[in-house]
Amino acid sequence: SVCWHGRQKRLFSTTKRRMTIMPAWVIDKYGGNDVLRFTKNASFPVITYPNEVIIKVNAAGLNPIDVGMRGGYGASSLSMKRDPLNLNQNGMEFPLILGRDMSGVIMECGLDVKYFTEKDEVWAAIPPWKQGSLAEFVVLSANEISRKPKLLSHREAAAIPYVAATSWSALVNTGGLSKDNCAKKRILILGGSGGVGTFAIQMLKAWGAHVTVTCSQNAERFVRELGADHVVDYTSGPVEKPLSELEKFDLILDNVGGETERWALTLLKPWSGAKYVTLVTPFLQNTDLLGIADGMMQTAATVATKALKHLVKGVHYRWGFFAPSGPALDEISEMVDAGQIRAVVEETFSFSQVPHAFEKMEKGHARGKTVVLIS
Ligand code: NDP
Repeated sequence: SVCWHGRQKRLFSTTKRRMTIMPAWVIDKYGGNDVLRFTKNASFPVITYPNEVIIKVNAAGLNPIDVGMRGGYGASSLSMKRDPLNLNQNGMEFPLILGRDMSGVIMECGLDVKYFTEKDEVWAAIPPWKQGSLAEFVVLSANEISRKPKLLSHREAAAIPYVAATSWSALVNTGGLSKDNCAKKRILILGGSGGVGTFAIQMLKAWGAHVTVTCSQNAERFVRELGADHVVDYTSGPVEKPLSELEKFDLILDNVGGETERWALTLLKPWSGAKYVTLVTPFLQNTDLLGIADGMMQTAATVATKALKHLVKGVHYRWGFFAPSGPALDEISEMVDAGQIRAVVEETFSFSQVPHAFEKMEKGHARGKTVVLIS
């Protein structure tokens, strides 16, 4: 509309020359790795709200959700989030840009952006309903970004935000942990060697917790170097038995899911506020399978039933979710610059090798993060 164009003009009044296209990896439909397409003509992102910034991306990080979203995972709920009034036709999300982690430099700020300015080096975890970081530029709101740690290169910085924001949401917001209440707490991380695990171990150790992790035997040294106090190998037999012989836990972070919740809650200290927080939830699958309304009802019913079932045994059952948060990243940035948390980059790919990076992700067995250098 005329009004919208007027606003655009005002927001960009300081810009001399506007770019309209940029290089990016996009998908035009959901599917396997063959749907990934490189283009030099992706739409250049525009500032639509005055609290947004345009960032030039230096490095992007991948997460399991990128592989999932390439195949259509979460498509119904994410479409609803992008277009809440359902004004657009199906498929309006395409061409879709994947990539949830980014580290880069601010090129332009909307009129209401106060805390950041052009040329600031920033990092962010991009919510799955927004265009991702496998592109030269991205638009985000100022409350989703944070100043990148000075100690890290862009490549290293791109390995942290999504797993950090997820760990923060699960452990702090849902689990009730903080830097002031972790000392002597016993925490169990199911699945310690991947992206979330390698970050969560370091954050919890920095806060003084005692951390036990499960991982495969060949990752034991790796997780110990990150600070794990006790390691249980899941490849040499069921972990329930060795774990049940240990002192009980104050909190369990479950990055594995599946069968784990059948036994994991018995490892918690009962009637002490102890919590089991799982990141492996059926939330997006339910809405993909059943549609938004039924999927949400099904999800609410499932989580309420499970929470109640465990509450009567004196332990708390919770689902954890990624949540974008610039302020959480600010705190993590300080921890990184204080030498308490390091980036764990397993493999780095160039911008031309994005399909190889996805192949690597699909093989599983991550030992930290996969990063793509954009520029
Ligand atoms: P990664 O792929 O980076 O890591 C998974 C790790 O788990 C690998 O190191 C793998 O190594 C290990 N693993 C696999 N099976 C087991 C097992 N039975 N016991 C112990 N370790 C195991 O994933 P992320 O860390 O990024 O994410 C973890 C999970 O959390 C994923 O399912 C992801 O989808 C989910 N998640 C959910 C979010 C939400 O909003 N709810 C947000 C972020 C993540 P190996 O196979 O060699 O043992």
